[in-house]
Amino acid sequence: MASNGVDEQIKLVEGPAGYVLEDVPHLSDYILDLPTYPNPLQSNAAYSVVRQYFVDEDDTVQEKIVVHKDSPRGTHFRRAGPRQKVYFKPSDVRACIVTCGGLCPGLNTVIREIVCGLHFMYGVTEVIGVDCGFRGFYSKNTVALTPKTVSDIHKRGGTILGTSRGGHDTSKIVDNIQDREINQVYIIGGDGTQKGANAIYKEIRRRGLKVAVAGIPKTIDNDIPVIDKSFGFDTAVEEAQRAINAAHVEATSVENGIGIVKLMGRYSGFIAMYATLASRDVDCCLIPESPFYLEGKGGLYEFIAKRLRENGHMVIVIAEGAGQDLVAESIEQQDASGNKLLKDVGLWMSLKIKEYFAKHNVMDITLKYIDPTYMIRAIPANASDNVYSTLLAQSAVHGAMAGYTGFVSGLVNGRHTYIPFNRITERQNKVVITDRMWARMLSSTNQPSFMNPPKGTTEFTD
Ligand code: ATP
Ligand code: MG
Repeated sequence: MASNGVDEQIKLVEGPAGYVLEDVPHLSDYILDLPTYPNPLQSNAAYSVVRQYFVDEDDTVQEKIVVHKDSPRGTHFRRAGPRQKVYFKPSDVRACIVTCGGLCPGLNTVIREIVCGLHFMYGVTEVIGVDCGFRGFYSKNTVALTPKTVSDIHKRGGTILGTSRGGHDTSKIVDNIQDREINQVYIIGGDGTQKGANAIYKEIRRRGLKVAVAGIPKTIDNDIPVIDKSFGFDTAVEEAQRAINAAHVEATSVENGIGIVKLMGRYSGFIAMYATLASRDVDCCLIPESPFYLEGKGGLYEFIAKRLRENGHMVIVIAEGAGQDLVAESIEQQDASGNKLLKDVGLWMSLKIKEYFAKHNVMDITLKYIDPTYMIRAIPANASDNVYSTLLAQSAVHGAMAGYTGFVSGLVNGRHTYIPFNRITERQNKVVITDRMWARMLSSTNQPSFMNPPKGTTEFTD
């Protein structure tokens, strides 16, 4: 597709040495064809007052905002937003939306805004919702989505479409997309879902279909790389405060009270870290990225005893994936999507602490364990996540209408962008315990690092 002008346009953004778009050679893979129809938004007087409402096709956003002298400038992504010309004629569009994986605040907002964005911005009227995740493509159960049917769904938690794990059969899904004559597919879900979306996109290209596949990454844990943050994360951190408050009240109401709160975070401890920083009532935050140990000098038991002697109470926040190596007799099990099932580390740790303090006669303690996971996942998005989800959905709609495909819409350095699927599925975003943010968290709890400091340096780098 080099002749469509896309590859030539890329040269415009090539600059000084090292100023490269890593994805450039393949960029034409992400465009269905040249857009030829004028964007219907051009005739809407309301937008004409906005300076530079339309995004130039060559506008890009740099992934790395801080670039050291003489080092490569790194990857750029296409800036999201409406284009002057669109690939799809609105009356020809038949779109579908599917949600997969676990619940996350904001799912319904994204669904609502895709439907309303397509309808009100582009005049697209045919939008269907796929029932209960990827496997819903094989069933005949779909629901027609209109601005009226989705008008107040953002006030509800969960997803009105239902969700599921497992059941991904790329070929059957694409057969179904073809049978139903769908030409825009919006896929909302986490890392597994976006891997599935990538497979669907590749199969669609292999079959030469003119179908745009757009993803909206969902992860309450904030473990998707490249993007600044995922929708629902702020809401989760905010709601986690209620559990931490409850644990604090319980702990301060008795002598030597310990409150333990388990928060989401299978592989990444962002929610635990931010909830701890926000609360200031937390004495110790444990996350998967930071190993810890229980017994002996500098261990967790010693720290608990110290804090109780000093303050008479303490609150521990633990991410669900923390300390999995310590949890005894772990038998490896998987869910329907092939994800490893984790042991309940919060419950396990509560029992271990009680057992240790009783056995060693350290002091009488009262321990309360709170697991607010399902309460947090099920709430509707807060104001900032509603705004964020809306903008992500609108960006996805603009991208698909322009004929882009194989992308997710995501915020990079504060700018909305289109990111190729593979860039967000190739690794996980994790808390880097040598970064300043973890050091800031440590200084708010004043907990030990539970590590022997490496010889020579204890400095944190950013
Ligand atoms: P979360 O883990 O945040 O709840 P997720 O999207 O990662 O969300 P999963 O249950 O892992 O949730 O996956 C959702 C869907 O994606 C499932 O239907 C699963 O079959 C499919 N899927 C997962 N991994 C892949 C993969 N590598 N290739 C194709 N499909 C996949
Ligand atoms: Mg996942």
